[in-house]
Amino acid sequence: MTRARRKLCLIGLDGLRWDVATEPGLAPGLMRLADEGSATPVWMVPPTDSGPGWSSLLTGCSHEQTRVWDNDMINHQLGACPDLLSLVWMRDHHAVTYAAATWRQLLDPHGRGPIVHTRIDQQRNGLHELFWADGELTGCVAADEEVQAAAARVIADRGPDAAFVYFEGVDEAGHRYGSAGAEYRAAITRVDGLLRCLVKAVDERRERHGEDWLIAVVTDHGHKPEGGHGGDEPEVRRSFLVLHCPGATLPALDTLDPTAVTPLLLDLTA
Ligand SMILES: [Zn+2]
Repeated sequence: MTRARRKLCLIGLDGLRWDVATEPGLAPGLMRLADEGSATPVWMVPPTDSGPGWSSLLTGCSHEQTRVWDNDMINHQLGACPDLLSLVWMRDHHAVTYAAATWRQLLDPHGRGPIVHTRIDQQRNGLHELFWADGELTGCVAADEEVQAAAARVIADRGPDAAFVYFEGVDEAGHRYGSAGAEYRAAITRVDGLLRCLVKAVDERRERHGEDWLIAVVTDHGHKPEGGHGGDEPEVRRSFLVLHCPGATLPALDTLDPTAVTPLLLDLTA
């Protein structure tokens, strides 16, 4: 009998400043994961935009390798840079993978990416599933809620071997209001509520099915006080990797390069 592998739920929170998230009471769900697990600083490599950021975080490849330098992603080489979910499937052809997001570049095969490969053959065989909610139609808050509901259902019912779930609301608030005020903080608390729903779904899998799960949380960049990102300011480059895995010894790390995140997550679920 082969040993069941540890399952992975990676949650991406776009545009989240760690120094703001750690303000008392703003993000109790995320802070619980960090307190019980670990939180390692990740320093994003400029340009600190979502295209290059998520490409390097989710593939382990540098900007030079993905050739993603902005959100237009023209002439990208993502086809040669398999994403984390693809890598999970490549090492185990029975692995079930899942991604849910609002941002087109992550998932949409007819958009400018996608960063997460479509893998239509595995989709047909029930080994890969993608859910995309269009924030431009419904607004970001509603789209994030759709993503949460869909992802929590799949985690609870199917327990995929690796899932990536992405929320956009914090980044949207940062662009609209800046990161200095109450609106950005309210968005963090709102998205933290969505994160807690996913953590609850994972907790239930652990209890009911005795499964071993690693929860990881990461962001692609922060925001300037007046809003916006792309440059090399510390508040924009500063990301983090939160790891939560009850019963496991997590590696003690000082700091991480964005390209180290995918290999580390593969290692921890090997
Ligand atoms: Zn942004």
